[in-house]
Amino acid sequence: MADCLFCNIVARKIPAQIVFENDHVVAFKDIRPMAPTHALVIPKKHVAGIHEIEAEDAGLLGQVLLAARDVAEKLGLNNGGYRLVINQGPDAGQSVFHLHCHVLGGRPMAWPPG
Ligand code: 5GP
Ligand code: ZN
Repeated sequence: MADCLFCNIVARKIPAQIVFENDHVVAFKDIRPMAPTHALVIPKKHVAGIHEIEAEDAGLLGQVLLAARDVAEKLGLNNGGYRLVINQGPDAGQSVFHLHCHVLGGRPMAWPPG
């Protein structure tokens, strides 16, 4: 989608600090980190959010989560652990409408989340 921020990051039309890429996903550092390590994993295919995923794209979700695991490993979060977050809709504070999984780590995380 031409007017989608994250599609433009996939297309390299908007710069980002890319930390991981394969045929299905791209991962890059969040521009406004909420933890010492904060990356976003997105499918290359435009999907607005987790709620818009079609059954045929179930494999894509697997790719996003597997990549999130690989990104956490690559960024050194495997020992301390990390949190994966997918925000959906206004109550969750979703602000970019291209599915993304936050990978957060480098500090203890509170529970319940805010
Ligand atoms: P959401 O609030 O939709 O779950 O998460 C969107 C995330 O995208 C936010 O954490 C925000 O900081 C990040 N973000 C927004 N614009 C940009 C950008 O242009 N580049 C990068 N790298 N991250 C962005
Ligand atoms: Zn998009």
